[in-house]
Amino acid sequence: MSSSSCIFCKIISHQIPAKLIDETNNLIVIADIAPKASIHYLIIPKKHVADIQSLTGADAVLAGEMIMMAQKLSQQLMVPNAFKLVINSGAAAGQHVFHLHMHFLSGKVTDPV
Ligand code: AMP
Ligand code: ZN
Repeated sequence: MSSSSCIFCKIISHQIPAKLIDETNNLIVIADIAPKASIHYLIIPKKHVADIQSLTGADAVLAGEMIMMAQKLSQQLMVPNAFKLVINSGAAAGQHVFHLHMHFLSGKVTDPV
């Protein structure tokens, strides 16, 4: 399922460009367009799921794959095991794009690029 008005669905279907970091059968990882840290990736399921609340039991493996992708990405860092994962869930919590995504953040905003 995808949403024709969803920006992440458009990235997944190559209708708009993004910097692709990694891809699996079920996920893409892109660089955030407005990075809040030296490394700021978005781990995004290819399936359109609006948010955490919209996940069902059938999505449990998919949710696990998002965590395992974070583990894989962390192994490529200069400083291993130094990263944060954030999922904003709900507008009141700062979610702006209503296609589930996990922020992968590493390094400081002030780090040299
Ligand atoms: P959230 O506020 O948790 O919904 O996060 C949405 C994130 O998507 C923000 O960090 C945005 O900078 C990022 N974003 C929005 N549009 C794009 C885009 N076209 N390519 C990459 N990242 C994007
Ligand atoms: Zn979507």
